Amino acid sequence: MERKLLIAGNWKLNKTIREALELVTLLKRSIRETQTVEVVVCPPFTALSETAETLLESGIQVGAQDIFWEEKGAFTGEVSATLIKEAGAAFVIIGHSERRQYFHETDETVNKKTKAALKNCLTPIVCVGETLAEREADKTFLVITAQLKGGFANFSADEMKKVVVAYEPVWAIGTGKVATPAQAEEAHAFIRKELSKAFGSDVAGTLRILYGGSVKPENTSELMSQPDIDGALVGGASLEAPGFTEIVRNAALGRRPIEEL
Ligand code: PEP
Repeated sequence: MERKLLIAGNWKLNKTIREALELVTLLKRSIRETQTVEVVVCPPFTALSETAETLLESGIQVGAQDIFWEEKGAFTGEVSATLIKEAGAAFVIIGHSERRQYFHETDETVNKKTKAALKNCLTPIVCVGETLAEREADKTFLVITAQLKGGFANFSADEMKKVVVAYEPVWAIGTGKVATPAQAEEAHAFIRKELSKAFGSDVAGTLRILYGGSVKPENTSELMSQPDIDGALVGGASLEAPGFTEIVRNAALGRRPIEEL
């Protein structure tokens, strides 16, 4: 089944509004593959609106890095799905390991946030993945299973069809240690199998699973050529236009059948 590649840049706590606009102005000129690869950039909340405006009709889409599950009210400091949508976001990252680690996000909060995103027609990119200690203790699959079960508890198959999952081994995020294509493919195939058991093969066959963790231009095409890897969530390497452009280009090449290369 054909799944369109998705490359999403997670800028984290980087880029002022001016810096964000400089970056997307360059990306608009340099990225040529938006017909074959869906491209998303996720700036901080403060730069969402201007970034989205600058990218209008460029084929590059915009996402936020988090949302709160309530629509409005006395929740100081929080930002809702409605607000990011109004600012021009079409995607939202949910349950990133940095949010789980530093801001005590749980599978339960991931569940509520993902529901809120879907209710507002945003595409959630839901992150799962094990720490180094969990991998070394042979708990990778147990951890992923629990994150999927909790994160998607009470989801219907129709809801799941609109979700993107990102497998991000925590030990590979921002460390320069990338999972080997075989390690990543093993985890992706496992996730697809679990989703197939829970929601059916139709959902599992169409749902995109991104890899995240030290993706760079040099390792992109090999990762993307794996059958169950449908794109990448890119942190550090999404902050500069040449590198991110090359990742998008190499992703498109990696996915192309060998005889066309
Ligand atoms: C991320 O933040 O989701 C990520 C994968 O970061 P990096 O590419 O820097 O490892």
